[in-house]
Amino acid sequence: MSKKNTAVIPSSEQEIIDIVAKQHDYFKTGATKSYQQRRESLLKLKAALIKYEPEMHTALKQDLHKPEFESYLSETGFSLHDLSTTLKKLKSWMKPKWRFTSLLTQPGSSHIHYSPLGVNLIIAPYNYPIMLTFSPLIAALAAGNTAVIKTSELTPACSAITRKIINETFVPEYVAYIEGEVPETTVLLEQKFEHIFFTGSPRVGSIIMRAAAKNLTPVTLELGGKSPCIVHDDAKIDIAVNRIVSGKFLNAGQTCVAPDYVMVHKSIKEAFLAKLKQRIMSTYGEDASLSPDFARIVSDNHFQRISSLIDPAKVLVGGQTEAESRFIAPTVLRDVVTTDKVMADEIFGPVLPVLEYEQLEEVYQLVDQLPHHPLACYIFSESATVQQEIINKIQAGGACINQCLLHAANHHIPFGGVGESGMGAYHGFDGFECFSHKKGVLKSVTWMENPLTYAPYGNKINILRKFMK
Ligand code: NAD
Repeated sequence: MSKKNTAVIPSSEQEIIDIVAKQHDYFKTGATKSYQQRRESLLKLKAALIKYEPEMHTALKQDLHKPEFESYLSETGFSLHDLSTTLKKLKSWMKPKWRFTSLLTQPGSSHIHYSPLGVNLIIAPYNYPIMLTFSPLIAALAAGNTAVIKTSELTPACSAITRKIINETFVPEYVAYIEGEVPETTVLLEQKFEHIFFTGSPRVGSIIMRAAAKNLTPVTLELGGKSPCIVHDDAKIDIAVNRIVSGKFLNAGQTCVAPDYVMVHKSIKEAFLAKLKQRIMSTYGEDASLSPDFARIVSDNHFQRISSLIDPAKVLVGGQTEAESRFIAPTVLRDVVTTDKVMADEIFGPVLPVLEYEQLEEVYQLVDQLPHHPLACYIFSESATVQQEIINKIQAGGACINQCLLHAANHHIPFGGVGESGMGAYHGFDGFECFSHKKGVLKSVTWMENPLTYAPYGNKINILRKFMK
């Protein structure tokens, strides 16, 4: 796959320092805060995303061989849907949220005022380079902020079109695009921001957090992990198989919330595996390299890393690889055990290990012994008791019951990790909150006094005791 005409033009250290300083000055003017300004910038972004949709799809094809349908579903269409929801709801999100005023603090009223945080740094990964750049940006603009954007060096075509969109739509003191790799990001991280929003691996997440600590900058970390998919003995196998295949092999498995591995109940294991094989064949054909609906691995390094996880002795279906085009067939490994290499870290590719269990307790123990807290947990079961038990017992960033991935597509619920899979959440109103400071405001009346807390205190402590019980 060609990556020509999309060379990185690294920003110089001085350019980076100047851009961040200009954003601080611009933010202080208050220009980004009004409802009209926020709305106008979101509308401008919407127009740009519509105008450049074909170019973004071409770039996604070039970088990841993404099928156009997937590009629209999970990148451009996703961002446009995000924009429409935000534009529709922005006015109500910005309104003060009223809270109860305790007896001690009466007479008066209390509310939350949402203030923008200020200058934000948004760092995006390679796997959904358009959506994971624009979704946080939409939330940042909606909340009245400025933003500096840094995309991944692994997707140069997407970086080039993102740069074009940002530069044509915004002045750099409002939204700026910084080009570069680790050295440029390191310079960026030395600057003072009011918030860093990072999407990427737990390893780099930890670098980001360490850099942020120097300036006491709050971070939102959207990271990864090994997300389990549990198929219980009462699951509807056909439904489970359809949804697992779709969730795992979208973007050739390079999805942070892809089911990393399946744990299937021993009693239905063989039926499940047979249907899984059938489904992969009917979806991508005998030779998935000919399918128009299957993406490729982003880089040679990732191709080597993922290929090395395939144990030929355990391949149920797939296993074919082709280095030149970075193709790895949709692959299922059977009879996998926890000590297999494929279970050591997040797979982030089209390889699906299947393990078996008899008691749910074995599932909990396995999830617990793996290195990362899962970003997502998927449960296939018809029993409300089993569903609830798994939701309660497995600590994961998010979950789907009888589905894969789609919790991340619903803008009405928060999306984020827990523990090593991340901190903070966004999407919809939660995204607006993520880029806002929730200022608690108490407004007292002036038409009367409440002298309870004034000296001289005398024996007011007895009244205080009643109020504070
Ligand atoms: P990555 O951590 O390698 O890179 C992410 C970003 O960090 C890129 O822009 C990269 O240029 C930058 N970066 C890399 N090394 C750096 C360093 N030393 N200092 C500063 N910046 C550096 O992640 P990736 O490979 O692009 O993406 C895959 C990972 O991201 C997976 O772990 C996946 O689960 C995770 N992810 C999480 C989400 C989510 O929403 N939680 C979404 C997508 C991907």
